[in-house]
Amino acid sequence: MKIMNPATGSLIREIAESTPLEIKAKFERAFAAQGAWKKAGLDHRISCIQKFHDLLEKERETLTRDLTLEVGKPIQESNNELNGARNRIRFFLEQSKATLEPKPVRTEGGMKEVLGHDPLGVIANISAWNYPYLVGVNVFIPALIAGNAVLYKPSEFATLTGLHIERLLHESGIPNDVFTAVIGGASSGEELLKLPLHGYFFTGSYKTGRSIAEKVAHKLVPVGLELGGKDPLYVTDEIADLKKTANAVAEGCFYNNGQSCCAVERVYVHARVYDEFIRHFKEETLSLRPGDPTDRKFQQGSLTRPSQVAFLETQIEDAVKKGAKILAGGKRTGTQGAFFEPTALIDVDHSMQVMQEESFGPIIGIMKVANDQEAIRLMNDTEYGLTASVYSTNLARAESILSEVNSGTAYVNCCDRVSPYLPWAGRKNSGLGATLSTLGILAFTHPRGWHIRG
Ligand code: NAD
Repeated sequence: MKIMNPATGSLIREIAESTPLEIKAKFERAFAAQGAWKKAGLDHRISCIQKFHDLLEKERETLTRDLTLEVGKPIQESNNELNGARNRIRFFLEQSKATLEPKPVRTEGGMKEVLGHDPLGVIANISAWNYPYLVGVNVFIPALIAGNAVLYKPSEFATLTGLHIERLLHESGIPNDVFTAVIGGASSGEELLKLPLHGYFFTGSYKTGRSIAEKVAHKLVPVGLELGGKDPLYVTDEIADLKKTANAVAEGCFYNNGQSCCAVERVYVHARVYDEFIRHFKEETLSLRPGDPTDRKFQQGSLTRPSQVAFLETQIEDAVKKGAKILAGGKRTGTQGAFFEPTALIDVDHSMQVMQEESFGPIIGIMKVANDQEAIRLMNDTEYGLTASVYSTNLARAESILSEVNSGTAYVNCCDRVSPYLPWAGRKNSGLGATLSTLGILAFTHPRGWHIRG
């Protein structure tokens, strides 16, 4: 498998993909090792994860360099991602013990009733490339703490990062067979689906997620799906500072080149503030410069998958053909690599792909709306339900609007944000189940009811 640098188009390294036989052997070893890992106890498992947390800091320079090399994000964003991952790990270190320890819930007539949690067994973590540390730690950290063994398939676009994660977990005291990386693309993922694993946890596109869920449904094991989004944001006519709002919205659209599941993908603006918002938004968009992701003077890096450039062009072409105008950007840029100008489209409507299908790139459609009812109708008008955001100084109005929008996350005066203390749970085609929060710890366990007389 060739590991390419998307910012230069050059080869970084070649790495052997795991063969079907190797993947089966990894599973058998994980199956044999999981029992001892469970018996090692919660305190021991937590202490290993603490070491992993510390090693991420110790190796920061290598990890952020390789992340930027293989996915093309600016080096400062790679550093932010590592900080975010360590922050999430601290949440799991702080909350896992209280969440997983058996809880006496009732004593009656000499009978003690206790709620316990057992690990699932050996689980698959099939992961994405856009935030490989963040989306990875959401799954493998609570899974390992709960006593599971993990077969971890990093995305083929984030293999170096996946191998670093495996190496550092082993250095932290996690036995080699309890956490194993499975290297490769779709076919390696398919091999995992054939094995009798005890849970499947997937981060990626709706199309792949649905096909995985269908293929493993007959096993009746837990399945978690963190899928894509077409996240809407509504700017009401009660805004204290439109320039500041335009700045925040542009960051929500263009951070990580829009390659975030919770990136803002559609913007609706109340007619009364539309013209002024558009003026500020154009300035913000034009101020972002794509370029060498290792050079801190550029805010935008390269897209990770070169094929995405043509996909964005298709969405823009479709929108323009149907009447949209380009407010800023609109085309690929640079002499090498997968660079694309941050792009804003206006005069868009819901017949256009750009307002319906996940773009997963630095392009955004902005639409004028007459009132809150129209905004609510349009915000609900896609197959996705990951996040939704409303900007307004009137908090009651913002909360009331969001209560009518079907999304797992509701943002008031903020966007493109994840907290480990809150569940991350897509609705509709955006996913199934939840990661993060205490729900995202329990997701890797089976509940057990203990009835104890004596
Ligand atoms: P993808 O679906 O192409 O791939 C995801 C993973 O699945 C990769 O490891 C890939 O190798 C593997 N895979 C592909 N085909 C497979 C198959 N047939 N069987 C088994 N495994 C298979 O997605 P991607 O391009 O890596 O990620 C981008 C998508 O992920 C976007 O839609 C984004 O919104 C979504 N995402 C969602 C969240 C969330 O938390 N909801 C977070 C990050 C990314």
